[in-house]
Amino acid sequence: MSLDARPEDLLDPATAATAVPMTDAATARRAAHEANKLSKRLHRQVGQAIIDFNMIEAGDKVMVCLSGGKDSYAMLDVLMSLQKRSPVPFELIAVNLDQKQPGFPADVLPRYLTEVGVPFHIENQDTYSIVKSHIPEGRTMCSLCSRLRRGILYRVAGELGCTKIALGHHRDDIVVTMLMNMFFGSRLKGMPAKLVSDDGKNVVIRPLAYVAEPDLERWAAHRRFPIIPCTLCGSQQNLQRVVIKKMINEWERDYPGRIENMLTAMGNITPSHMMDRNLFPFATIRPSGRPEADGDIAFDEDDSCGSAGASSQPAVVRFTPPGG
Ligand code: SF4
Repeated sequence: MSLDARPEDLLDPATAATAVPMTDAATARRAAHEANKLSKRLHRQVGQAIIDFNMIEAGDKVMVCLSGGKDSYAMLDVLMSLQKRSPVPFELIAVNLDQKQPGFPADVLPRYLTEVGVPFHIENQDTYSIVKSHIPEGRTMCSLCSRLRRGILYRVAGELGCTKIALGHHRDDIVVTMLMNMFFGSRLKGMPAKLVSDDGKNVVIRPLAYVAEPDLERWAAHRRFPIIPCTLCGSQQNLQRVVIKKMINEWERDYPGRIENMLTAMGNITPSHMMDRNLFPFATIRPSGRPEADGDIAFDEDDSCGSAGASSQPAVVRFTPPGG
């Protein structure tokens, strides 16, 4: 499908019937319908995340960090589209950090950004050489590389007068990060949709926080973004991150909706039913003498009698009091 083709054009039966054979027309209609649905979903989810976390305010200048991967292209694409219809005026500037990885096609992003008509800035910094000289051969370079990149992007945001820094992490990144922190860091900590940066000078936002990675893959294919491969540096992705990503995708395949539920759970926490004594004053609780909305009902409803393995589904037992 052409980048310029509008779904509604392809949905026009008269146009489709005369332009292409019947089966092709049907395929085109179906593809257009799916693209239209996907577009609406992406716009709705990004818009909702922006509203829920008050990510963008009137007068903001948003620095959209663009790596050349599918996620950041999609983020820029949807933000540009939302900007046109937003009642709240804000600016966008796309920023790419050219880290001087061997073979990085430096012309691709400037050409694309010029074509789509968004202001942009390319920051040239040879972090690749720095990382190479500090990390022994065969070890993953991502930790140092991303720390350097973050510092540079924060500096550039200040120089460009940006008030927000938008990163392209999506729903699946957030869930994987939470599980990584649980499994390897023994803490419940995800990846925030909005935060103040380490240096206290920047507000970082993640407008794709509600967006599923497969949707971004489909959108990138539909929009034919000129993707730059992320393997130029020769570094391996964190192996555990790959394993956990595979795990949640298998869960999702077997139990559709599970990733979404995990993300929703991150915004739906009952501190009294966790174990963090800093979040809830366990030491000082006393009977209040009145029903508590967060009392043990929240726990009992899904509690089994301990016969683990009896069922793969949680037992839901609702107790009706006598006379109730
Ligand atoms: S994959 Fe390469 S460019 Fe990306 S963070 Fe790791 S070292 Fe840096």
